Amino acid sequence: MAAAWQDVVRDAAAVREAAAVAVDAALLAGVLMRTGEQPQASDVVNYAPFTLLPSAVPQDLFEQAYSVQQDFNLLVDAISQNREFLEQTLASTIKVDDFTARLFRIYMKVLEEGLAQTVFLGINRSDYMFDCGLDGTAALRQIEINTIAASFGGLTSRTADVHRLVLKVLGKTEEASQLLPNNPAKRLALGIAKAWDLYGSQRAVVMFLVEDVQRNIFDQRCVENELWNRNIRVVRKRFRDVFEQGSLDASRRLYVDGQEVAVVYYREGYVPQVYDQQNWEARLLLERSRAVKCPDIATQLAGTKKVQQELSRPGTLEKLLPGRPEAVARIRATFAGLYSLDEGEEGDRIAARAIADPDLFVLKPQREGGGNNLYGEELKEVLEKIKDSPERTSYILMDKIKPQPALNYLLRAHSPLEMSECISELGIFGVYVRKGQELVLNQAAGHLLRTKAIEHADGGVAAGVAVLDTPYLV
Ligand code: ADP
Ligand code: MG
Repeated sequence: MAAAWQDVVRDAAAVREAAAVAVDAALLAGVLMRTGEQPQASDVVNYAPFTLLPSAVPQDLFEQAYSVQQDFNLLVDAISQNREFLEQTLASTIKVDDFTARLFRIYMKVLEEGLAQTVFLGINRSDYMFDCGLDGTAALRQIEINTIAASFGGLTSRTADVHRLVLKVLGKTEEASQLLPNNPAKRLALGIAKAWDLYGSQRAVVMFLVEDVQRNIFDQRCVENELWNRNIRVVRKRFRDVFEQGSLDASRRLYVDGQEVAVVYYREGYVPQVYDQQNWEARLLLERSRAVKCPDIATQLAGTKKVQQELSRPGTLEKLLPGRPEAVARIRATFAGLYSLDEGEEGDRIAARAIADPDLFVLKPQREGGGNNLYGEELKEVLEKIKDSPERTSYILMDKIKPQPALNYLLRAHSPLEMSECISELGIFGVYVRKGQELVLNQAAGHLLRTKAIEHADGGVAAGVAVLDTPYLV
């Protein structure tokens, strides 16, 4: 990718000056996070880590990512309604992966009882990297789609202003004016508001289901405040609160602490560690309720790595989106190579290839949140150990994407200002609302660019590896 800022990136004095301005601008704009030392209070806060310079992103790939987002919304929504597909696809996984199995059991229970929920809200983020081919051209490759708790739509709504100022300080006024406006917070809130409205009770609240430790609270507040602007009440509750204060009435309306809940927006619930027995019970209660869950349990399952891998099989997309060949083609054009490790010859063959050439692949378990994937030597070791056991079924293999690095500075509180070779990951937010069988809203809702130093194979912003960025289209 074009190195956009060659003339300034090595100018130490200019960089130091711009970094000081950038940090203050981030604080002023509200690009904030609570500190590791005081994650439960907002008395002392830091700026969320971000790049000094916006990163170059090829305009055609950026546009491609936006133009496929409504297709991905349709696809996720279709999968969430396709019991046969989810059952078949996850059959091997749930035999060996306890977390997916427990989610799946809730899914089955809810279906057996019959859905009380009639309005559906999806907020997802499809993530991509720019794979650099041998001839130097870049291609858009999907890393994954996040169907639960896709974050940073709030903070990223405020980072473009910071980068605009930095470019001006560096004498790049013209380039500054080209940075795109971006406001996922507003558009995600619009989706939540629509679902709240269709639920049809003025008294009812939107419940953010939040973590015990809430370092990233400001990102959530951005969306929350947009709802308050629309005079929609928001409450923040943890699974534990739902366990202690939650109940359903005869028509399965959800009440928490005496308040009716129209929409449950999960910003928690995607890692096994949060679930003890009581929290699993709380999750089941929420899923059984009439409240709009964002996402419902089926949509969470639609976002598993196993589902992603099965989607890449020839013919699968066509079955899930019948009569939409153009959408299928747009979606497929973003896929990297994905491989099943199910028991059998196909799995044996790809496992052997990955052991022989581990740097070409990524080994992924059914986990979210960063830091779970295996690369290189570690991939090889683990795969050698599990290749003849059913355990390998809990993983998938994926082609490793190799983007062209660019120089930048990652600004982090209490860290020295150092130049790094960096790679970026572009996320596009999607939002959709369905009432019964009628899709009433289907939109791309903005973007997120995250950038990390090349020495880190894995991990997002919350995991402390990647930082917030702004695309500069080239
Ligand atoms: P998670 O659900 O933990 O976020 P991801 O699939 O998004 O899992 O992987 C986490 C990180 O690992 C990504 O943000 C990316 O940096 C890196 N990664 C994942 N898949 C690939 C791949 N195929 N090639 C290169 N890097 C990858
Ligand atoms: Mg990810």
